[in-house]
Amino acid sequence: MESLFPNAQSELVNWDTPFQFLICIVLSAQTTDKGVNSVTPALFKKYPTPLLMSKATLNDVENIIRYVNYFKTKAKHIIELSRILVEEYNSLVPVTTKELIKLPGVGNKTANVFLNDLYIKNEGIAVDTHVARVSQRLGLTKHKDPDKIAKDLEKIYPKVDWWKINRYFVLYGRYICRANMNSTKCVFRDTCSYCKTLPVGE
Ligand code: SF4
Repeated sequence: MESLFPNAQSELVNWDTPFQFLICIVLSAQTTDKGVNSVTPALFKKYPTPLLMSKATLNDVENIIRYVNYFKTKAKHIIELSRILVEEYNSLVPVTTKELIKLPGVGNKTANVFLNDLYIKNEGIAVDTHVARVSQRLGLTKHKDPDKIAKDLEKIYPKVDWWKINRYFVLYGRYICRANMNSTKCVFRDTCSYCKTLPVGE
């Protein structure tokens, strides 16, 4: 996977600070990165900091992020999350999973993507739909629950590499081991039997 995506990095763009990156990840749940990237320039132009975001009106944030799935819930979450950062963390984003998952809209996956992508913290493996699908097809887990899949992967991979798993599995799932189609570029075709059930893409 690393050889196929040598310069792999998050496809969330348009952010300049840890706060803005966290907001991007919260917005990306059940939504494409492309969708998030289309709304964040306007969002961060108007509300670049926790203080300004915490004072935003719900209507305005909903309107700016309306092209993102679950925009009403996410608008509420990011305003409340910003208020907590201002009041409890001096407007800084905490850097432990334990603290991050107390923020609205932030679960284990969001916390670990944030900590691993920015700080290579390796506190846990972030499991989203792509990581789950690739792990299941390759026989690395039998579970469907993301937290249980994360535990299985954390037993297989050395802790020092945990930060890489989400990054590579996501790109692999997005471009090679896709939901309804597989690719001839897959490096596991000789050993993975799952492909035989899927139409072949390029
Ligand atoms: S062989 Fe097919 S199903 Fe298996 S990992 Fe590769 S693309 Fe996915």
